Amino acid sequence: MDFTDKEIVCRDCGTSFMWSAGEQEFFTQKGLVNTPSRCPICRKKKDVKHDFQHLFDIECRLCHKKSRSPFQPNDAAQAICEACFKQQQADLKPVSSEQVDHASVMESQY
Ligand SMILES: [Zn+2]
Ligand SMILES: [Zn+2]
Repeated sequence: MDFTDKEIVCRDCGTSFMWSAGEQEFFTQKGLVNTPSRCPICRKKKDVKHDFQHLFDIECRLCHKKSRSPFQPNDAAQAICEACFKQQQADLKPVSSEQVDHASVMESQY
């Protein structure tokens, strides 16, 4: 199948952008049939919002690395990076229901 660059007008900001042949090929490979309706910038903005990534700068109390966390630490001294958090969870319970816990915390926060 041949792809050619296509000009699309972003429905959010009205800017026209090129939907490149390469991207079209990528879309097709992924089985996506819908033409993107937003420019890459708006798509990115939307993704960010969608992922609710309000990241807070923290300094991990265990490894002292600067990190970013989606959770706002109540107390800076309690801040912990994701790696250490996972490590802790793994130490606490061998069979982890972390995925579920994580999701429910997210929901209650947003
Ligand atoms: Zn746009
Ligand atoms: Zn850490």
